[in-house]
Amino acid sequence: MGALTAIEWTDMTWSPWEGCQKVGPCCDHCYAESMNHWLRRGENWGPGAQRRIYSDAHWAKPARWNESAARIDKLIDAPVNTRFLSMEPLLGPVNLYDWIGPWGTPNELQAPPMIDGIFVGGESGRGARPMHPSWARSLRDQCTAAGVAYHFKQWGEWAPGNLFPGSDLIERDRGKIQSGFFDYNENWNPLGPDPFCQTMDRIGKKAAGRELDGRIHDDFPRLTVPLLSDAE
Ligand code: SF4
Repeated sequence: MGALTAIEWTDMTWSPWEGCQKVGPCCDHCYAESMNHWLRRGENWGPGAQRRIYSDAHWAKPARWNESAARIDKLIDAPVNTRFLSMEPLLGPVNLYDWIGPWGTPNELQAPPMIDGIFVGGESGRGARPMHPSWARSLRDQCTAAGVAYHFKQWGEWAPGNLFPGSDLIERDRGKIQSGFFDYNENWNPLGPDPFCQTMDRIGKKAAGRELDGRIHDDFPRLTVPLLSDAE
């Protein structure tokens, strides 16, 4: 809940209340849960727990942030209808066909995708789990086919590794880092590298970086905002 954030795809964040409950494996290492346990003995956490609603001053913050935007609001006569998914941490393969297609054949009228952008990232922090490169690649390729923005935010703690000489992936000192591998069924095995499977190395979020297949994917969803001249 901070105005400024280090999250790569946004500049500001704001939370309306404190408290939540885990809804799936992606929530296993939720920092908000740790914070609530640390600061308030977990009293706002879990099903049925009372949420802590922030003060009026806190609720007024977004309005203050939007003060400058409000000046051009009167020039803009259209609702914002951009949708995006933040898939982080990505813990498995995801098929978005039902939402982004592409549907039909090239000669048919294509329905526009229902989602404008995808943000993908691996897990960071203690207990972080690795993200198989094929999961990130698949989403990249689905987005490319549908004309949807794809933003690869980070690998997280684990980066792809490879034992083959001449690999385009990074050679690392394996005596000093934790490694594991995904087997052919994409099941995770933490017991060291494997030259015939997808090895992953725990080298830390910063070192792991955010390149996927040698390039940065920094696309953002299209914003549906009319030109200022349209509103004049
Ligand atoms: S990650 Fe944490 S805050 Fe987010 S939905 Fe899961 S439990 Fe709630």
